[in-house]
Amino acid sequence: MRSSEHNPPRTLRSALLTLICIPTLLAYAPLSDSSLRRIPSGAPDLDAQTGALLAPLLIPRVPGTPGSEAAQRHFAGFFAALPRWRLEWQNSSSRTPATGDALVPFANLVFARDPPWARAGDVGRLTLVAHYDSLYEPEGFVGAVDSAAPCAMLMHVARSIDAALTRKWEAMEADGEAGLGLEEERGVQVVFMDGEEAWHKWSEEDSLYGARAMAESWETELYPAASTYRTRLESIDLFLLLDLLGGPDPTVPSYFPETHWAYRGMAKVEERMRKLGVLTTKPKSGVFLIDGDKEQVQRRAGNVGYVMDDHVPFLRRGVDVLHIIPGPFPPVWHSMRDDGDHLDRDAVDDWARIVAGFTAEWMELDEFMVGEKEERLEIRSREEL
Ligand SMILES: [Zn+2]
Repeated sequence: MRSSEHNPPRTLRSALLTLICIPTLLAYAPLSDSSLRRIPSGAPDLDAQTGALLAPLLIPRVPGTPGSEAAQRHFAGFFAALPRWRLEWQNSSSRTPATGDALVPFANLVFARDPPWARAGDVGRLTLVAHYDSLYEPEGFVGAVDSAAPCAMLMHVARSIDAALTRKWEAMEADGEAGLGLEEERGVQVVFMDGEEAWHKWSEEDSLYGARAMAESWETELYPAASTYRTRLESIDLFLLLDLLGGPDPTVPSYFPETHWAYRGMAKVEERMRKLGVLTTKPKSGVFLIDGDKEQVQRRAGNVGYVMDDHVPFLRRGVDVLHIIPGPFPPVWHSMRDDGDHLDRDAVDDWARIVAGFTAEWMELDEFMVGEKEERLEIRSREEL
């Protein structure tokens, strides 16, 4: 599932194999209804007061403060239970208009899974992003939709696909499909970005501290010459950014004509999940992803432009971006009311499921999503062995 104009160059051998194998590779297979039903709910872990994923994040998370470190420990602790995800820190420091000469540390956390046989430079990665820092002012601001809830959603997405990824890659190895270069190797990474917010007033210098540092660093991180991708930056198949999600009744338009096809893919997942009755909310517009045709998207992009957010340093370097952010913004945006009490628990859970469904589809996990009942049986039979 990627637009044809962005395909990486193939070797002659893999091009020939592709020709031979066209029927199975043509493509982008939608998830079956039964797989969509098997995308687990994140409740009760996404509850603002008691949820194991979300509640610990609803504290001030200003970069360089104990709250920020607590959030980092929360992510690392959660992924410690999913040991196949490799943790990498992308650190930088900067002065800010609010902190004088002192250097403030900014730490982006990246949790990634690649096919176990693949060389790092041959893997294209779906890149799921949310920022975990919160505003410096007003003091005590916790940023529930901005972006504690999106971070918790991404944790739920990771655990929802973890076992299926393992099954898929084990099956490929067992079938001798691993490493044949039949298609590009496909991985996934979750990025918790730091320093998105401005400290005083939004400007090119006072905002996006973590994202600017990461885009710059990944642009210069070269893979060996024979790799599919030249740099770490180029290996991003899609930069899927969640922000300001978790309030009631969001409408999310499509911002970029170039990735409208991916937006359509997610809208379709939402629509099908609603029809299957696996989502709980009843939005006024019927759906969260309000769609529109490509012409409307092009007009909006021409007239309104796009929202400034963590994707900008990547977009400017040619990375494909899907920005899932409501337009208009939620009414609590950047006010003290952006807290746990103003979240819509059902909307948080529905988003977690929609993004998990989209991710499972992108990663081609249809045959490998197993329901809870089967999973229990599988564990039991392993234990009996
Ligand atoms: Zn914000």
